[in-house]
Amino acid sequence: RFISFEGIDGSGKSTQARLLADSLRADGTEVVLTREPGGSPGAEEIRSLLLTGDTDRWSARTEILLFTAARRDHLEKTVLPALDAGRTVISDRFADSTRVYQGATRGDLRHMVDQLHTLMIGREPDLTFIIDMDPATALRRGLARSSGEDRFEDMGLPFQETLRHGFLSLARANTDRCVVIDGNRDPAAVASEIRAHL
Ligand code: C5P
Repeated sequence: RFISFEGIDGSGKSTQARLLADSLRADGTEVVLTREPGGSPGAEEIRSLLLTGDTDRWSARTEILLFTAARRDHLEKTVLPALDAGRTVISDRFADSTRVYQGATRGDLRHMVDQLHTLMIGREPDLTFIIDMDPATALRRGLARSSGEDRFEDMGLPFQETLRHGFLSLARANTDRCVVIDGNRDPAAVASEIRAHL
């Protein structure tokens, strides 16, 4: 079973991915907890190419190719082998992040994102938890723990709001696999709602 967590920066998705992994492991399920961009040695190298440097280090198209290349390596080296071995894979972000983030910055390239996905990835999670969170709170949290090295951070509140709406409309279009979870609560309450969905 392949589960992804999505949401804006500071939504608590990474915490929730970890709590779900802990909870499933406690019940004896073999879980591989992974993340994007990254999740395999090669994809982690691409992650650092993506996240460091000047804002204009990559063009929008090159950036989409790098996210897709990282995802392809993650899929081949981490996700598919784990699923084939019967493990549960929990990924902190997957293709929906590219649809929403790159769609938000370059909506005109959304078709390219979709084509590359079909060509190179062709796999969706069985279940996606979208952690919905007030953008102002999420932004404060995100900046509070910011390393300052991530060139995507600090894009401001209007951008966070655009992303939030992007995730919510993606959820509406993919009700077969997406579940929206209210993240504006105590993390333990959020975790137990997520657990109840399984
Ligand atoms: O989730 P995480 O903090 O690891 O993501 C790293 C950074 O990459 C975040 O600042 C996020 O906004 C950005 N990102 C992006 N496009 C994606 C995935 C992540 O801009 N497709």
